[in-house]
Amino acid sequence: MLTDTRNPEQSSVEYAQALLDGLAPSGGLYVPEVIPRISQKQLEEYAGLPYEVVFTLVHDLFVGDSIPLAVQNQIAMEAYGPDNFPQAQEGVVAPVRRLDPNRPLYMLDLFEGPTLAFKDFPLQVVGREMDFVLGERDEYLEQLGATSGDTGSAAGAAMQGRKRIKLFMLSPDDRMSAVQIGQMGVQTGQNVFHLAISGTFDRCQDMVKSIKKDYEFTSLGAVNSINWGRIASQIPYYVSGYLDTVQQAGLEIGQPIDVVIPSGNFGNALAAFYAREMGVPIRNIILATNENDVLDRLVQSGEYRAQTAAETSSPSMDIGKSSNYERLVYHLMGDSAKWCRQYMEQFESQGRVSFREFGLDSDLLMQAGFRSGRSTHADRIRTIRDVFAASGMVIDPHTADGVKVANYKAGFDIPVLVLGTAHPSKFEDTVAEAIGRASLPPRPVQIVDIEERGKHGRTLLPNSEEAVKQFIRNHRFQVA
Ligand SMILES: *Cc1c(COP(=O)(O)O)cnc(C)c1O
Repeated sequence: MLTDTRNPEQSSVEYAQALLDGLAPSGGLYVPEVIPRISQKQLEEYAGLPYEVVFTLVHDLFVGDSIPLAVQNQIAMEAYGPDNFPQAQEGVVAPVRRLDPNRPLYMLDLFEGPTLAFKDFPLQVVGREMDFVLGERDEYLEQLGATSGDTGSAAGAAMQGRKRIKLFMLSPDDRMSAVQIGQMGVQTGQNVFHLAISGTFDRCQDMVKSIKKDYEFTSLGAVNSINWGRIASQIPYYVSGYLDTVQQAGLEIGQPIDVVIPSGNFGNALAAFYAREMGVPIRNIILATNENDVLDRLVQSGEYRAQTAAETSSPSMDIGKSSNYERLVYHLMGDSAKWCRQYMEQFESQGRVSFREFGLDSDLLMQAGFRSGRSTHADRIRTIRDVFAASGMVIDPHTADGVKVANYKAGFDIPVLVLGTAHPSKFEDTVAEAIGRASLPPRPVQIVDIEERGKHGRTLLPNSEEAVKQFIRNHRFQVA
């Protein structure tokens, strides 16, 4: 059962409700009332099981009665099955790979899914779970969002073919990469509508806000990264990643590892926190940022300060604040919605807040087992090159930020597991800058010829709110 980070009076909410709500009614986020535990004996039993089985065993601890176990199993088999993970061999959808023969440096490969980034892991489950819950309630869900990058295709892939969901996603008509345009293009039709607006991303976002204020469209939901279902669907890969790492390192289950997480909105790192609270032997959770270093500064100084996001060559980490961090604050403050609310309200009104003002130590996050570091364009180019030289493996720019920070911040006295968050073929230009075009890996089937296949897929609309509204009217569910 879940509660709300900002409302001490909130009564318990079921998983299914949090899934459909996204945000809690107070504007806070849903968090578990009690974090379930996994014993060492259970971890030993999970070792060697196929990913979808480990997934359901762990995920069910959060879902409970909201979704019958047989349905959860079915969802996991589809989400992590061969249609979505064509490269997976023998059920290994989230393999651990060694990145350096001389040091215990490993990577958890989470980028073999439909859009070749780790967000597929949670979203492929969440889309199916939403569809199931909507069916139980005989409800429908229409979502409207804006994207300047990968959120569009990951959400599109998750919602595509879901019977009770329609997704309307605005994106700027230019300024997206050809691969991104192609990925969105092939999803368009049926129930997913990618609308290319002749305007900027900011204009797309403003339109979304303004359209939702119109009484005709207020029921349209948001596409957001703070849905509890996403976090609850990311925790299981820390369990499988841990087990595979200790196995490859020749260690006993129970011995600790460090994890390094390329971070932006703090969803992935938060899942690591929950996994550790549940009993997965993780020593340090090391956050890697790019030039947008809000989280690194926070860990080092105890001050959380919003920044204007700058464009970088690891674009999925370009953030000015980290929405999911609120959940960690809630737990660090002793599961207090009262204190969490004050902290977040101060941040929202002043753009900054520090632990000291709340009588807490500046190094609170370090005491809580977090570490951090920052990476730049030059770092990620050098790191992609170094990893390629050491292991022959090609990593993407986000994962490279993780490896760079691992090099400086991890002790390597125990195994270090870096989260591989995207496939290098999604960021070919940056990878080519590091190792040359001739060394680029072949594209996975998901994006072979994607520019051509999806070129004309998006629906072009003028920079006009009325045009977008009319399109939505024409494509909404027609429920009497
Ligand atoms: C979203 C994303 C991240 C950042 O993850 P958060 O959960 O937002 O911290 C890192 N790398 C890639 C490739 C991503 O798509």
